Amino acid sequence: MISNKTLKLSLKSLRDFAKKRLPDETLIELDERDECPLEIVRDMCDPDGLGIQLLFIPEECGGFGGGAFDVYLVCEEMARIDLGVATAVLATFLGSDPITVGATPEQKKHWLSRIANEGLLFAYGATEPDAGSDLGALRTTADRVTQDGRVVGYKINGNKQWISNGGIADAYTVLANTPSGPSWFILEKGAKGFSHDEPEDKHGIRLSNTAALAFNDVYVDAARLIGGVEGQGLNQAQAVFGYTRVMVAAFGLGAGWSALDRAIPYSTKRIQAGGPLSEKQGYTHKLIVPNVARLEAARAYIEETAERIDGGAEGSLNTEGAISKYMATEAGNAAAEASIQALGGYGYTHEYMVEKIKRDVRITTIYEGTSEIMEMTISRDRWQLHLKTRGEHYHQQARVYEELHSRHPNVGADNAALALHALAVVMEKARVARLTRYQHILLRLGELIAWAESAGSLSRRAALMAEGKLNEKANRRFDAKALAALSRIFAREAALKVAEEGLRWVIGAGGINNGESAALEESLGLPAIHRAQAGLISDLDYIADVLYGRVAKHAELVA
Ligand SMILES: Cc1cc2nc3c(=O)[nH]c(=O)nc-3n(C[C@H](O)[C@H](O)[C@H](O)COP(=O)(O)OP(=O)(O)OC[C@H]3O[C@@H](n4cnc5c(N)ncnc54)[C@H](O)[C@@H]3O)c2cc1C
Repeated sequence: MISNKTLKLSLKSLRDFAKKRLPDETLIELDERDECPLEIVRDMCDPDGLGIQLLFIPEECGGFGGGAFDVYLVCEEMARIDLGVATAVLATFLGSDPITVGATPEQKKHWLSRIANEGLLFAYGATEPDAGSDLGALRTTADRVTQDGRVVGYKINGNKQWISNGGIADAYTVLANTPSGPSWFILEKGAKGFSHDEPEDKHGIRLSNTAALAFNDVYVDAARLIGGVEGQGLNQAQAVFGYTRVMVAAFGLGAGWSALDRAIPYSTKRIQAGGPLSEKQGYTHKLIVPNVARLEAARAYIEETAERIDGGAEGSLNTEGAISKYMATEAGNAAAEASIQALGGYGYTHEYMVEKIKRDVRITTIYEGTSEIMEMTISRDRWQLHLKTRGEHYHQQARVYEELHSRHPNVGADNAALALHALAVVMEKARVARLTRYQHILLRLGELIAWAESAGSLSRRAALMAEGKLNEKANRRFDAKALAALSRIFAREAALKVAEEGLRWVIGAGGINNGESAALEESLGLPAIHRAQAGLISDLDYIADVLYGRVAKHAELVA
């Protein structure tokens, strides 16, 4: 684990590097030329330069041994600079994951040390033309090569699609089917029979190299089978989803904030109808403040998940990673979209950058698991909890927040509790009427679960902030009072969404009989949720004042 001081220094070096090497004009030019700045990516991974990859390499292999919390903060910072470059760096992280999780001690030492000492760039080759969300459908094969009855190597044949760093990596981790099932292999560039296509012409992250790979009887030594045992590939991929999805969540967060941080100052200077846009409620309360609340709710969930990973939580935290990714990347996309609107016509041009950020952040709801796959993952897991606890799981969670509300009446925990109780009621209705036989209902539940749990997280984060117990590395852009107001805004929205959309889907799927809807509205707590909207405008006003520096801050901004 690295110290807060070292982390802050690394983040500052990253910002200084970006200011010098990747100013807006350079980013715009590279984006227009659709070019990956390989030299810059290499300098970022040069152990004698920025050496950003050292953060996630264990100390015994020459790195700093950073944890999930550190890597989340670095990923957020990289995304604020450029998501394409961030993706190029992350690809090494993803590419080395199967090694971190499943390799033998010798393989780990060899490859992770090379990433640390030589700045080796990796690519992560899982997706195929016919195997995207459903990796089980992969067709790339690795056939055993034997000598005297002993397996001495493998011959790989097949194709990979959409591989970040595909055309520039020094080494590749590749998922292929062995006779005992999917397995990861490591191969280096230049291997005979291995080739890559020209980079894809993409909508966004145009500074990232994305290419298809082809394997034509590519021989790899048996020592390149990760872990030395066949058939472990899908488990190894699954084992790190909690971690890797938190990183992509941080990308959504960083990109979303980077767009808002252009819209906010812009609106102080843009005069329309006699005054700056920043003073117009119809502007700030639609385009800026709600997006800030959604991003900070996602941050609360990310930080909690990263802390749990670093604390050695049991299991892969696959669902928590999925909720983090889902909330942060959807919020990041919405924030970037709203930022284009916030800049009006200027927002629609290259020069003002927000349209580039919007194109870039779009990828975060697709790669490392699409939003729909996240909804499915979340829903399936929490559905089991609902069944196991006979419908009590979310009522129990709600009671935790009711207790929090009794200690901290201003952090929105009462509204988070309303959201969680409503969620429990919707899920129980879905169980009784067997509504999860409709895939759409299952996935909509995933969305509502993510919102309700995030409302809880943000209220807990606001309470920790008020108690001075927030993780020392945590983002401190907002003080306790502002965080509490953000939490109240988000929890009101979450409660309303869960109850109203839950009601919609239960009725829409034929889950109740005629005449039962009034009773269901009552049991969902809809009247109470409507009453809880009181105070919303004044909270939106307060956050707008905070964002525009119109109130004194209660805590220091993080440098
Ligand atoms: C720029 C870029 C970089 C990438 N980098 C990498 C990389 O480095 N390594 C790598 O291995 N992969 C990479 N990918 C691949 C990425 O992870 C996949 O694109 C993603 O997992 C989705 O797979 P797919 O494109 O085949 O879409 P599909 O799986 O075909 O999905 C298409 C749509 O259908 C939905 N869908 C899919 N299954 C279901 C279902 N069961 N029920 C309901 N809806 C469903 C999806 O949510 C999506 O909206 C990258 C992709 C891009 C575009």
